[in-house]
Amino acid sequence: MTSREIQHLGESVIDELRATLRGDLIRPGDSGYDDARRLHNLLIDRRPGLIVRCAGVADVIGAVNFARRNDLLVAVRGGGHSVTGNAMCDGGIVIDLSRMKGLRVDPVARRAWVEPGLTWGELNHDLQAFGLGATGGYISVTGVPGLTLGGGLGWLVRKHGLALDNLLSVDIVTADGRLLRASADEHDDLFWGVRGAGANFGVVTNFEFKVHPVGTVLAGPVIHPLDRAKDVLRVFREYAPDAPEELTWGVLLFTIPALPAFPPQLHGAPVVVATICYAGPLPAGEAFLRPIREFGPPLADLVQPMPYSAVQVMADFVWPKGYRNYWKSSFLRELSDGAIGTIVEHFARVPSPQTVIVIDHNGGGAIGRVGAEDTAFGHRDWTYNFLVTSAWGNAADDQRNVAWTREFWSAMRPFLADAVYINYTSDQGADLLKSAYLPRVRQRLVALKNRYDPTNLFRMNHNIEPDAAAAEPR
Ligand SMILES: Cc1cc2nc3c(=O)[nH]c(=O)nc-3n(C[C@H](O)[C@H](O)[C@H](O)COP(=O)(O)OP(=O)(O)OC[C@H]3O[C@@H](n4cnc5c(N)ncnc54)[C@H](O)[C@@H]3O)c2cc1C
Repeated sequence: MTSREIQHLGESVIDELRATLRGDLIRPGDSGYDDARRLHNLLIDRRPGLIVRCAGVADVIGAVNFARRNDLLVAVRGGGHSVTGNAMCDGGIVIDLSRMKGLRVDPVARRAWVEPGLTWGELNHDLQAFGLGATGGYISVTGVPGLTLGGGLGWLVRKHGLALDNLLSVDIVTADGRLLRASADEHDDLFWGVRGAGANFGVVTNFEFKVHPVGTVLAGPVIHPLDRAKDVLRVFREYAPDAPEELTWGVLLFTIPALPAFPPQLHGAPVVVATICYAGPLPAGEAFLRPIREFGPPLADLVQPMPYSAVQVMADFVWPKGYRNYWKSSFLRELSDGAIGTIVEHFARVPSPQTVIVIDHNGGGAIGRVGAEDTAFGHRDWTYNFLVTSAWGNAADDQRNVAWTREFWSAMRPFLADAVYINYTSDQGADLLKSAYLPRVRQRLVALKNRYDPTNLFRMNHNIEPDAAAAEPR
């Protein structure tokens, strides 16, 4: 399906839209246009014809109806952190949810109703007031919507599952402009698809989450020099099978930035870091973690009791804004000595000090207690997720960084599962969909797309295409 360009619409048509909005309409040439189209990944530089910065559900419905009636390419912007840049389009209309930051918490029922403009940092900041927390992402600035609709790996994932495993319902504006509530009891087919392929079926205007008593956790980084990386990864592998579900952790390889939080002698040092969040009784956490923290000894052991809201921001410095990004990710088939050697060897030649390698231990906990086909997200049995977040500052370095990432990826192939967490990769297209969704899940998603979005209005995402026949008649 092709879309009309906005410049073919008359001014009066756009004025009519403006008159219906409570939020703002931002167009090329307006002050604020460049800010509004900027995403986390500066490699993406798209110029939409209209940005509707929605103030509420009515604006979302109005924008969806306007886009459909005028045959416009549509992008939906939540937190703007997808590395593919699907939150922005060229020439079309962007439904920007970043100002919709409403939150209601029921501390007794342990429920939170979250609007799509909230980030994980904002949500967990407010939940902390009640000693509660949500799985979230590992850093604070990612958006609640995109992260949840594709999966949601965060600091409570082994104890409480993915962000989408904690969803109880969503309010969603579908392509025909209806506002539906999808849950286990209403539009349950849609609720199933939203949990893993959510951007395909509409615009979610509210998320109802289960949230959990968290309060104080034992968390922080344990920092080692890079020349100990192989040993640190082996220790991680040795302890992972017995790690209690209260522990969500990973190992990162990165370069220490020149921040006051770090001693000057560490600035610019390549390091291997165990990142830890133990959300259970502190003495039990201390006991399990003692040999891991004492190993080495490390350059620094910063693990300490802290509020969960502090954990939510503790890794922010590792992924700062202002960089061009190219990411590759897959679950690991094995963290063998061969995989460890390949990781360490390639990181030693990393072209950019902003690039990070992540090996997360997500498995063996709550994710695996949900059936593989119970939600559209189906990769629930893998122990480790592997991620390379290449990031650099200058366009002149694009080719060098992308080439290094791809070469590293080829070398890692023997150790990678054909299973990808869709939110973590710059890859797109049919091959990715095969790796991201189980075969029967893919079939079911196409049927769902035929039912809820037969003309593929929502296609700036990891797109499930409807069958061509489903699109006629409009
Ligand atoms: C620095 C960084 C750190 C990250 N850390 C983590 C992490 O710890 N854990 C993790 O699981 N992932 C992480 N991610 C990946 C993250 O899950 C995705 O980038 C996710 O898309 C971010 O959500 P967003 O709302 O910010 O994205 P956006 O780019 O705004 O949206 C992503 C996709 O969802 C669609 N979308 C957004 N809002 C809605 C809505 N309300 N209704 C329907 N569709 C919508 C968009 O159209 C787009 O297709 C990280 C990414 C970055 C760049």
